[in-house]
Amino acid sequence: MSRSTTNVTLLGSTGSIGLQTLDVLARLSRVGRTFRVVALSARANDALLANQIKTVRPDVVSLVDRGGAQRLRDRFPGLHVVDGEGGASEIAALDGVDVVINAVVGAAGLAATLAALSRGRTVALANKESLVAGGELVRAALAEGGGRLVPIDSEHSALLQCLGAGRANDVRRLILTASGGPFLGMDRAKRVTVSAADALRHPTWSMGRRITIDSATLANKAFEVIEAHYLFDVPYDRISVVIHPASIVHSLVEFRDGSILAQAAAHDMRIPIQYALTYPERVDTELPRLDLPQLGRLEFHELDGEEFPAYGSVLAAAREGGSAPAAMNAADEVLVARFLRGDTAFDTIARGLDATLDGWRGKFGQSPGPLSLDGVASADRWARSFASTLPA
Ligand code: MG
Repeated sequence: MSRSTTNVTLLGSTGSIGLQTLDVLARLSRVGRTFRVVALSARANDALLANQIKTVRPDVVSLVDRGGAQRLRDRFPGLHVVDGEGGASEIAALDGVDVVINAVVGAAGLAATLAALSRGRTVALANKESLVAGGELVRAALAEGGGRLVPIDSEHSALLQCLGAGRANDVRRLILTASGGPFLGMDRAKRVTVSAADALRHPTWSMGRRITIDSATLANKAFEVIEAHYLFDVPYDRISVVIHPASIVHSLVEFRDGSILAQAAAHDMRIPIQYALTYPERVDTELPRLDLPQLGRLEFHELDGEEFPAYGSVLAAAREGGSAPAAMNAADEVLVARFLRGDTAFDTIARGLDATLDGWRGKFGQSPGPLSLDGVASADRWARSFASTLPA
């Protein structure tokens, strides 16, 4: 049976998820599933983007950096090159695109998600900030545009798969797994002195730098709880997290009768990326597989809130709602960057998030109102400047 071609736009093509997505697309085409990459976007890496242009031959590319965009125009005269901050949203809304893969890193991804969904596109979402900072807006765009949102994050891909086995009103709770990062069980005194290099050594996953640090503080897991809340419309008191150091079970769903369904797979992001692209079908492209006897045993532990204070702060912000999660996301981005530069201690990330939440309550907490893109942007700006002036 011949299949029609799916036209895709890949936002954030030069990042970790972007590169793995291109690998998945190549694998899918080798087994006869044709995807045509119509557009690519990146922030600043025009050299890598140029290589990708030669391989996938898109019609349009977008680069935030204007100098790099000009180099691409000079090098590829027939290619339409968009530049500046709005480029990703512009190419997310192109006519004739079926699927927009949003692998942008950071809050900049939200506008592109909204642009695609309000035009009824399917969005394969790896940009968690879309839901963390603008969950209510994303839900409104979905309702208005009739698009579809499919998660790429491994935990949410697992939840989507487990939820498919039962009815929504029979779900008791969602259970996200967390590896616990490289400092699981380390005593507090030692944590203060860990370096960026230590924190970047994630025990199981290979990921971008910010998300690796967020996995060490567990702020990432709290952001993922927010994502799950908006993706699956489940209240916060029915979403829990369990520590599972091996990252083999990616998440679980408990149903009314006590049955728990789990999704397990090798920890390779290409598996959830591919599932998002072929959903609800499954394809064998020879990605890594699990060998259960070789794994031996799987461990689960309770999450210790004292050990991971950043988790509690972000979750408290989630319960505040409004622009509080947007502020926490922006502050976290700044605090992680400061830690990676050697400007602050690891502990400062959690303390800074706590201070940000207090500051947000004072500044924005009294007049919530409905969330708007402007409201998200203003909380984001405020939190960035607040977090960059916090003492080390
Ligand atoms: Mg994840």
